[in-house]
Amino acid sequence: RIVYVNGEFLPEDEAKISVFDRGFLFADAIYEVSTVLQGKLVDNAAHLARLQRSVDALNMGLPCSLEEIEAIQLEMLKRNDINEGGLYLQVTRGAADRDFAFPKDSKPSLVMFTQSRPVIDTAAAQNGISVVTTPDIRWQRRDIKTVGLLPASMAKQTALDAGANDAWLVEDGFITEGTSNNAHIVTKDGVLLTRALSNKILHGITRKAVLALAEETGITVEERSFTPDEVSNAAEAFITSASMFVTPVVTFNGEPIVDGKPGKVAKRLRELYIAFALKSLK
Ligand code: PLP
Repeated sequence: RIVYVNGEFLPEDEAKISVFDRGFLFADAIYEVSTVLQGKLVDNAAHLARLQRSVDALNMGLPCSLEEIEAIQLEMLKRNDINEGGLYLQVTRGAADRDFAFPKDSKPSLVMFTQSRPVIDTAAAQNGISVVTTPDIRWQRRDIKTVGLLPASMAKQTALDAGANDAWLVEDGFITEGTSNNAHIVTKDGVLLTRALSNKILHGITRKAVLALAEETGITVEERSFTPDEVSNAAEAFITSASMFVTPVVTFNGEPIVDGKPGKVAKRLRELYIAFALKSLK
């Protein structure tokens, strides 16, 4: 693989980042994952807008303009000859002598790599996934997409150890989101329920597009918090993320949701999202 590090495209084993990089020492770094279909980027303008928002929230600055970042992204797709998968991008505050205070003059680092994998035809999309609940032990600025992912990684491992595919995180009795996805249910009355945007969840790019598509198709969308009990009694559940698009959840805390098969609404929204994604390619 060819990776990008601070101005250079290099074979992955030749790329270097400083031991003093604040991304490494403090998780003082933000990231975006754009999905690649047909060798092009899905909804990338939305990812770049969120990158800017994360950078601004942390007073971090970018090493170059968003236009230049996109040009580097497209060059990465070409150099890696990737057709389907993901493009990971990370910006850190850069290297500085270790100190909790933000350094005044560090130069932000920019790193990118690609991951080739199927996105459209996956077993998860076909059969649905199982989730279990775990306590949400993350920080209070989940709306900033930082690389401080250890609590999410721990929750994912807890889910895998319990024989499930992922965890839905619970705080104060309500589901916040999945470890790396937004959580949604469809009630038996056909209402799509999803938690409202706040500092408690990541403002998913896919969540936004899917809610708009749902409303266009006449599905009633209600943005409010829901409990694990409401999931157990739902007609359907699903996740959204750039990597998984819309993926049905068919088992919750060891019990099937209705018949344990992917729901109609999730299937329809996945089709609509794929059509949207193909139109957004750049
Ligand atoms: N929530 C969390 C915690 C995430 O890490 C992600 C994606 O990585 C999402 C939600 C989904 O966001 P998006 O649709 O922008 O990929």
